[in-house]
Parts: sequence; structure tokens; C-alpha cells
Amino acid sequence: MIVSPPNVLRNMYKQCVWRMAPSGKKVYLTFDDGPIPGLTEWIAGYLGKYNIKATFFCVGENVDRNPSVYKQLQNAGHALGNHTHNHLKGFYTGNETYFENVERCNEVMQSNLFRPPYGQLKFSQQRVLAKKYKLVMWDILSYDYSSSVSPDKCVQNAVEKTRPGSIIVFHDNIKAEKNVTYALPKTIEQLVDKGFEFDKIVL
Ligand SMILES: [Zn+2]
Repeated sequence: MIVSPPNVLRNMYKQCVWRMAPSGKKVYLTFDDGPIPGLTEWIAGYLGKYNIKATFFCVGENVDRNPSVYKQLQNAGHALGNHTHNHLKGFYTGNETYFENVERCNEVMQSNLFRPPYGQLKFSQQRVLAKKYKLVMWDILSYDYSSSVSPDKCVQNAVEKTRPGSIIVFHDNIKAEKNVTYALPKTIEQLVDKGFEFDKIVL
């Protein structure tokens, strides 16, 4: 299980942001794949209780389906990023189709932030998308979406290697629901205990 991507990968994808500037003790919670009713609202509610701003990488078709949930994220002041319109796999999608899908998402939610689904991005896709978007990968993967990973292991993944500037990935999708609803409160608690603060991604 690779919680923190190796430098060789980071160096291959140099136009992507893997970690924010490590100033102070700020870390960056991110949530991929929503917005969906129920889970996204629960996460936003939980973050709101502690006045934490985070970053949500949204799938365009979910924004179309759930405009009021999207509005809730906007109104709460979270950062919002593009995660393609239909959650496409970059390695298996022709570039023209891929770029069209990114732009389709950009029509429903304008953002200068983009995260490729599954972290899949061809070099040619990176090159073109970097002209228009800030490409945001991650420093820490919780593996909340994996049914073979226990909720406690997700907490450990999210906390153990986190350092100033870390971008941490969770998911607001149904596959991750059991893990993320358990792991998010504990992760926040443990990171606060370690002196970390939370912020949204602004690039
Ligand atoms: Zn995704």
C-alpha cells in the first residue's frame, strides 16, 4: 500500500502539485468524486462544526444531479476543483475525449484546480491541461475507498506520514462511506493533537 507517492513519480509529473508549501503546520484535506446527497452533506456539516475549510474535487455529472449539495459546499467557502465530467480514466481515454470531458465539467463548475480521477494522467494530457489548470495530486492517500482497508487503517494512513503542506485524499463516494465517516473525525482529532491546522487549496 503506497500511502505517500515516491519521489520518482513526483518527478515524472513535475507539472502537478503533490504538496503545498510547507509553511507553518497547515495541511489540506481533499474529497474526491462528489457531490452526493447524504455523505457530502455529512462531511460538509462535520467540517463546518470545526470551522475547517477543505477542497472538493467534483465530478461534473454529480454537480448536475445534485446542485443543492454543490451549493452547500460553495456557500461554506470550500475550494472546488474539476474531477472530469464522468470520472474518466486518463490512461484509457483518448486525449480529445478526455479534454472535452474536462471542459464539460468546467462548464458546470468553473475552477482552476483539476485532479485526474485515479491519479491517471498521460504526459500528453498533463502538458495540455497544465496550460489552463493547476493539476493537484496528493501527498497522502487514506485508501478510504478500498473495502479491504479497515477504518482504523485509514486513520493511520491519513495521520502517520502527514507533514506540513500535505495534501490528504479522502472520497465522498458510496464505496468510501463506511471508512470516511469513521476516519475523518479521528483524523482531524489526531492531526489537531499534533498541532496541525487545516486549509483549502488556493493556487
Ligand atoms: Zn475520483
